[in-house]
Order: sequence, then C-alpha cells, then structure tokens
Amino acid sequence: MSTEQKNIKVVVRVRPYNRREMEQNQRSIIKVLDRETLLFDPDEEDDEFFFQGTKVNHRDITKRVNKKLSMEYDRVYDTDTTNVQIFQECTAPLVDSVLNGYNCSVFVYGATGAGKTFTMLGSTSSPGLTFLTMRDLFEKIEAQSDVRKFDVGVSYLEVYNEQVMNLLTKTGPLKLREDSNGVVVSGLVLKPIFSAEELLELLALGNSNRTQHPTDANAESSRSHAVFQVHIRMTDRKTGTKRMVKLSMIDLAGSERAASTKGIGIRFKEGASINKSLLALGNCINKLADGLKHIPYRDSNLTRILKDSLGGNCQTLMVANVSMSSLTYEDTYNTLKYASRAKKI
Ligand code: ADP
Ligand code: MG
Repeated sequence: MSTEQKNIKVVVRVRPYNRREMEQNQRSIIKVLDRETLLFDPDEEDDEFFFQGTKVNHRDITKRVNKKLSMEYDRVYDTDTTNVQIFQECTAPLVDSVLNGYNCSVFVYGATGAGKTFTMLGSTSSPGLTFLTMRDLFEKIEAQSDVRKFDVGVSYLEVYNEQVMNLLTKTGPLKLREDSNGVVVSGLVLKPIFSAEELLELLALGNSNRTQHPTDANAESSRSHAVFQVHIRMTDRKTGTKRMVKLSMIDLAGSERAASTKGIGIRFKEGASINKSLLALGNCINKLADGLKHIPYRDSNLTRILKDSLGGNCQTLMVANVSMSSLTYEDTYNTLKYASRAKKI
C-alpha cells in the first residue's frame, strides 16, 4: 500500500429511487459490490425464471449486451447512506487538513436530480455536508482557541453563464482579476461568521438568490454552479504568525448534456457556458491526473476561482451522485466515467 497521501478522493453516492423511477423503472443499472466497487449495467437476474420446471430465458435478443463494467472508487455509498456518514468518513478529515493549513475543496457532481443538493445542502431534517462540516470546523476551532485565534469569513458565489454573482448580497456580475496571491473576486466582501447555526440562515438566503430556470428537461434543473467558500485566518497567539486557508464546497450545475434540453436562444448560451465551466474543470482534473505541469485553470471562471483550491497540496473530495434507475442510464454512465477519470489523480 502506498504511504503517499492522495490528494483527491472520489466517492460515488447512489440515491434511492424517486417516485417516477419506482413507477417506470425497468431495472437497476448499478449493483454495489462492496465498499469500493460497483457493477454498472449488470445482467438482469430476473430475466430468467422457471416455468413448469424449465428454465426459460426471456432475454430480448435484439437488446444490446449489458456492459457489466466493474468500477472502483475510493468509496461507494449505497442508497441507505446518510449525510452524516459521508461527513464522518469524507469531510471531517478535510477539516483537520484545513486546520493544518491546506486548502480543501468538496465537489458534488452529477446530473440534475442525482442528489447533489441533497448531499451538499440537505434539508432541515437531514443537513448536508456544508452544515455538518462547518459545525465540525467550529468545534475544532473552539478546542484550539487558546493556542490560535481564528477569523472566519464566508462567501457564497454563483457562476452562471460564466458570470459571477454574489449570492449573499445579490450583486454582480463580479469581475475576476489576478494579483500576486492568485485570483481575486473584485468587490467581494467576506461575511464574518461565528457559529454553524448562523450559517444555515446564510445558506438559505444565498439559495433563495440562486438562478433557477425551468427547462424542458427538468423543471427543477439548476444550471448554475454554487461556490461556498470559508476563508480562515489563523493567528498563532504566541508568535503572531498568520496563515490563510480556504475550504470550498461546490454544488456543480447539472452535468447532463445541454443537447438534451430543447432550449433555444438564451438557454443555448447557458448550456454552452455550463459546459465551459464543467468542461474546464474536467480538463484541469484530467491534466492533474496526468501529472502535467500546465493546468488550464484560466479556461473558465469556475476554475479560475478554484485555482488555489485544486491540485498542488490541496485536498479534494469529489462526490459523484447517481441514480441506479435505467431511466438515467446515460447520465449515470457519464458521471461514473467522469469520476473514474478523476480518481487517477
Ligand atoms: P440535484 O441537486 O443533483 O439536482 P437533488 O439533491 O435536488 O438533485 O435531488 C433530487 C431529489 O431526490 C430531491 O427531491 C432529493 O430530496 C431526493 N434525493 C436525492 N438524494 C437523496 C438521498 N440520498 N436520499 C433521499 N432522497 C434523495
Ligand atoms: Mg441541485
């Protein structure tokens, strides 16, 4: 086993069927084999059944062959997994890394309806990774407060159509500029926060300001990337040494193909821009995976904003959200492929 610390962790979360899938689903296209492996597009077990003692195969011979792809990730979470469990296994360790001075980022990736927002934001009864992680951060900060002083400020941005909006103040578009410390979002004022509970209100406010456009493909489709960032300044009480560190949590736009929506005009532009940011993120991840020196962060505003939070010593968690319903075959397959590629970093 390698002792080298991996700086990207890729996990897959399979969500339970929704009502429509319960009613219309033909079969399950994912079989979770163990903690790290899933089988995509397995053979149908109930294709075969016994009729009067004879085994009859009802397989439609015109049907394409099942892929039966065995795919491995750092972790595969089956439908019974809770947000708390993913927090405990995946983001609690990131909080420790942040407090040790490493920028960290968490992405939720997947098609619209796959469970990204459920994972990241959650609901009142089941808070998502953002709240759980922030609560943990505040507890750990409290425990260290006699050694270090912490100043915590948050920002919540939306990248929509390559435009950057401040979700907390509903202002924008904001310009990005490069300075010696990296990319700066002009005019962005961080909101100081002192507890995780305060955060819930801020998130609710920010989300009510998100751009949501109903499209033909899915009325609840979210075509924007929501970028939540916690900026922490740590001051050593003895030496006065200061250190800045950042934790970013990103609810990505739906990864489904823009081509599947029947939009015209502005919707087309939207689709193209979402692809631009998602494509750029994918390209950066691929280049990092290949160990290349030049990473094309500049190709989109999303990757520019995240430049100091991807690659290098940064720790990244990618949660790939999928449904196991045959109704989402292409989306699920594409998400699993994207996640496999990211795992090679
Ligand atoms: P996305 O943000 O990827 O478009 P959502 O998170 O909004 O998808 O999920 C779509 C629907 O499925 C929501 O109604 C959500 O509550 C439900 N859902 C998603 N993931 C889960 C899960 N793991 N357990 C239960 N319900 C889920
Ligand atoms: Mg969503």
